Amino acid sequence: MPSLYDLSLVELESWVAERGQPKYRARQVWEWAYRHLAPSYDEMTNVPAALRASLAAGLPFPAMDTVREQTSDDALTRKRLIRLHDGKLIESVLMLYDPRSESRGRATVCVSSQAGCAMGCGFCATGQAGFERNLTTGEIAAQVIAFAREQKAHAKAASGRAITNVVFMGMGEPMANYNAVWRAVETLHSPEGFGLAARHFTISTVGLTQGIRKLGGESLQVGLAVSLHAPDDALRQSMISTAHRYPLAEIVGACREYIEATGRRVTFEYCLIENVNDAPEQAQALGRLLKGLLCHVNLIPVNPTADAGIRRPARARTLAFQRELAASGIACTVRVEKGVEISAACGQLRGDASHRPDAAPQQIAISGR
Ligand code: SF4
Repeated sequence: MPSLYDLSLVELESWVAERGQPKYRARQVWEWAYRHLAPSYDEMTNVPAALRASLAAGLPFPAMDTVREQTSDDALTRKRLIRLHDGKLIESVLMLYDPRSESRGRATVCVSSQAGCAMGCGFCATGQAGFERNLTTGEIAAQVIAFAREQKAHAKAASGRAITNVVFMGMGEPMANYNAVWRAVETLHSPEGFGLAARHFTISTVGLTQGIRKLGGESLQVGLAVSLHAPDDALRQSMISTAHRYPLAEIVGACREYIEATGRRVTFEYCLIENVNDAPEQAQALGRLLKGLLCHVNLIPVNPTADAGIRRPARARTLAFQRELAASGIACTVRVEKGVEISAACGQLRGDASHRPDAAPQQIAISGR
């Protein structure tokens, strides 16, 4: 059965009309759901009780039970493990940024687009666990709405900022679930409801070129982030089991088309792993690969996973890599990792909880780094 969040406003209008109600009722429900962030139909007091009852029966709110939640030492990062109606576990993260930082007080939600992932990145806990299923539009939107509702409830606190950004960088490959992801963007963008500006969404991919091209043709111009992690195909294929399907030359070609179509800069993500892809000559090769592209590279020192072979490079080595890349003319930054102490890398919280799937919701005391 679809949930309320699975429908577009137009579809909700049809749903309501099919039940003999005027279309404006749909708009009322939409505003309650996305502007007032109502947690149930009970709050929708200007909607007739009979219609609320049939909505509750036919279009329930999606089942999203928080199984576990962790908060970072500075209370700026909150990561949660969510159980869906069929028992599948996903993760989403809220990241608040210091108003004095470059990110100017952003409140970003990182959402999952799939339960599990089929892409097989060897350094990722989700990739190691495999693919389960695509999320629906409603399950994706609900991750954002849940955090937005909580932020609204704490609006008077310094941390109670409204959500400003949504990034598709949680569990799953968003381009492999393109339609549901895009519908969630449209829903959360809708000016009649949540109203998040298009440029405040970022869709990430490990390099699915069809999706990159499709995104370039969309009327809403959202951000694109492409995970490279290696400057050559051989190394990339040893790190990502499905990378042979997406050679680097094709990924860069698709990004070039995206930039030409949108005029927007592409962000490349490069996860630095000690003695795997962090040598100065690899930085030079990456510089040659990206030469001439309107782009920015995010260098991300890896979060260690269960695989003991994956280690984070020393700070000096990370900075040396950044210097080499910058010397090639590529704009790059080292990403400030948020929530390292709370298993904030994708799939880690689920991995922790898989040994205790029936764990009760809890706040977890976090030790310092
Ligand atoms: S890093 Fe992303 S694309 Fe790669 S396996 Fe993990 S979730 Fe999938």
